[in-house]
This record gives sequence, structure tokens and C-alpha cells, in this order.
Amino acid sequence: MQKVRKIVASGRALAALVLGISLVKVLVKRAFGVLTGLPLFLQNYGPDRLPPVTPDERSMMPKFSGCFACGRCDIGEAERIRKSRGAYPGVMGFVLASSRSMPDYDAAERALAFVDDAVLAAKEEICPAHVPISALARFVRAKAEEVGQARVRQA
Ligand code: SF4
Repeated sequence: MQKVRKIVASGRALAALVLGISLVKVLVKRAFGVLTGLPLFLQNYGPDRLPPVTPDERSMMPKFSGCFACGRCDIGEAERIRKSRGAYPGVMGFVLASSRSMPDYDAAERALAFVDDAVLAAKEEICPAHVPISALARFVRAKAEEVGQARVRQA
């Protein structure tokens, strides 16, 4: 009886094989007009208010999550929190909670209206975890705007 030899790919060879097969599948689907890539992402996640992120935004995300809740950035925020009547939870609340759920970024953007950019920049200077608070605020505002524009297009 003849012995059948199986070739088993592993490691980088397996990864290259899987990627190659996936590439061929995507190209065939695109040739037949099937949604793939970013348009497919938007169709799947747009209704959940989840916009895609750019490579630059993605590279910033690990820095956005460096907060360890020391509370230092909340020093002096009591009056702004009080004036907001519940809309603004303070800088730490913004960093640790409001900015963590992209579908709720419209609420996070409303919270940011109670604290100006110079204050956020000053808080960033004293943050022991070096959280880029100003960049996080820009990210939240940009994504809230993208979600708002998508909603207008869908209406
Ligand atoms: S100062 Fe930095 S580490 Fe401390 S609570 Fe604020 S964002 Fe978090």
C-alpha cells in the first residue's frame, strides 16, 4: 500500500497561505460587486454608531487607556462639574468612562463643552500616566461629528 504524504503548513507559511486565500476571496467578491472592506464595515457597524478609525487614531489608542484613576486631573473641577448639572463628570470621568464608548460620544462631546482646551492641556501636563488628554478630546469630537454626519445621511 502506498503511503500518502500530507503537507502541513505552519507558522509564517500558514499565515501567508491564509492571507493569500482571503485576498483571492475578497478580489472575487469585489469583482462581483459584493460589499467588502470599509463599505462593509460601515454597513455592519454604522447603525450601531461605530465609525471606523484611521491608522493614526488606532496607534494613539493604547495611550488613551493609560489612566489609573489617580484623580489628579479632577483637582479644581468641582465648580465645572456642578455647573454642568450632570453633563460633565470631570476630566477623570471623561478619560475613564465617557470616552470609552464610541456610540455615546455625542454625550461625551457635550461634557467637553464645560471645559476648555487650555484646561485640558494643563491637566495633561500634570497627568502622571501621560494620558494625551487633549488628543483624546479631539478624537472624541471627531468621531462624534462622523456619527452625526452619518445620521444626517441616513435620514
Ligand atoms: S491625572 Fe491622568 S492618570 Fe490621573 S485620573 Fe487623570 S487621566 Fe487618569
